[in-house]
Amino acid sequence: MNGTDEPCPKCSSPLGEVTETQTGKKLQRCSQGSWNKELRKSEGCEYVKWLMIEPVELDEKCPKCDSVLIMQVTRFGKKMKKCSKGGWDKELKKATGCDYVEWLTGKKEPLDTDCPTCGEKLVLFTTNSGKKMEKCSTAGWDAANRLATGCAYIRWLKPGEVPVSSAGEEFLPPEPAS
Ligand SMILES: [Zn+2]
Ligand SMILES: [Zn+2]
Ligand SMILES: [Zn+2]
Repeated sequence: MNGTDEPCPKCSSPLGEVTETQTGKKLQRCSQGSWNKELRKSEGCEYVKWLMIEPVELDEKCPKCDSVLIMQVTRFGKKMKKCSKGGWDKELKKATGCDYVEWLTGKKEPLDTDCPTCGEKLVLFTTNSGKKMEKCSTAGWDAANRLATGCAYIRWLKPGEVPVSSAGEEFLPPEPAS
């Protein structure tokens, strides 16, 4: 996606390059401004333009109405699949059309560690916000009954901690705090 050529509305300088955050959000900062990582604050012009991420059409059908599903990313970096027939009425503040939505909640990687509770393998689960936890591979979510299923073992990893069984191999060093 390309940025726009509009000047900064605060200081009329051109906007800088489009950059992407760790969570996949895109933004354009004023060329007169920069982010000081040590002081955690903006320097110079503080104007930031958040770019909307275009919904992507998926090769999947809505289970409710059979229309095409689209992938959308919210301003907060959460991903969801939603029905292309669904919409949002800003005046009435309610959903219109098909209301099918499926939130995507991070990714799973298999681990070579046995669950201390039931002896099955564990998986490493990374949430969209980058938090990691070990959970049992038998754990699941029954969406219809809104109930957790399978084994309930969960252990959150501290920031930067790597699962013991794979330390030094498949895992990169922890990302620096930003
Ligand atoms: Zn500016
Ligand atoms: Zn639908
Ligand atoms: Zn288990």
